[in-house]
Amino acid sequence: MIIVLRKGTEQREIDRLTNLIIERGVAVNPIVGSDLTILGLIGDTSKIDEGQIESHRCVERIMHVAEPFKKANRMFHPGASVVNVGGVDVGGKELVVMAGPCSVESREQIIGVAQSVQASGASVLRGGAFKPRTSPYAFQGLKYEGLDLLCAAKEATGLPIVSEIMSPYDLDLFVEKVDCIQVGARNMQNFDLLRQLGKVDKPILLKRGLSATIEEWLMSAEYIMAGGNERVILCERGIRTFETYTRNTIDLGAIPAVKKLSHLPVIVDPSHATGKWWMVEPLARAAVAVGADGLMIEVHNDPAHALCDGAQSVKPDLFDDIMRDIRQIAAAVGREVRQPAAV
Ligand code: PEP
Ligand code: MN
Repeated sequence: MIIVLRKGTEQREIDRLTNLIIERGVAVNPIVGSDLTILGLIGDTSKIDEGQIESHRCVERIMHVAEPFKKANRMFHPGASVVNVGGVDVGGKELVVMAGPCSVESREQIIGVAQSVQASGASVLRGGAFKPRTSPYAFQGLKYEGLDLLCAAKEATGLPIVSEIMSPYDLDLFVEKVDCIQVGARNMQNFDLLRQLGKVDKPILLKRGLSATIEEWLMSAEYIMAGGNERVILCERGIRTFETYTRNTIDLGAIPAVKKLSHLPVIVDPSHATGKWWMVEPLARAAVAVGADGLMIEVHNDPAHALCDGAQSVKPDLFDDIMRDIRQIAAAVGREVRQPAAV
């Protein structure tokens, strides 16, 4: 961090500011020019409150040399991280496809979809038990029963399971029952929840917030990692823009950007990113082409009667086509996709 001081700042003001910074354990290297004085900060500046520094009347401008996220930063961890989800590596050569319905609706539905996505080559089963719905009158998920049904589908297929947590009160249960805990877009900046997730030994799938910048998203990953849990997988799921044709605007540029900035694996969810089932296939292809480590796709056996997100859910036969497509694209970009399970 570099602090540019106002022209004509008196030495006693420079000393006061310097002492405040040194008290935070950061060294200060002053550069005194004929017109300007600049303070170069050396050390861990994460504990420096920028607003507090800027409130000093002698401060003209603050400039950043390094990003505010440390543990998630590729600068300090050049190799790509691989996060294991119930025996499946995310971030390695093999692309990981997490697939399943938006919500768990019944035993038959979740086991049926699990078997079909597994037969097409998915390696993780997704399914919402707790649903963050815009309307309080919409289906809110089967909740605890939904988690138990997901466990039944895992038992029937052997697929690891990922499901969204909405409250820190349910954390123990999620740790016990699921292989990966999903943080939804709406909770990306629920800092109390993120701190609690930092204390558990379980992979976390962190979706990008509805209007979050890449830096805010990575700072949320930092919250989890700062607590000691470094098993974070990022998920781009579209962001809100002026465009209303699609549910969200998929930000595929975020994939190479995140790969440059961070060592964490990143997957793409073309279902929530578009809100339209027929857009899932082309954008799944594009996501693989730009270097995503995997995909999250909503698959429903009967989208017309789905209790949540039917319009963006693909049927099992289209999902099978998507898997075939991305196998070819993966090969072109030096990656692999798991072959369909022998049935
Ligand atoms: C979901 O994956 O079911 C979901 C609600 O996604 P998002 O948080 O990205 O909206
Ligand atoms: Mn959904």
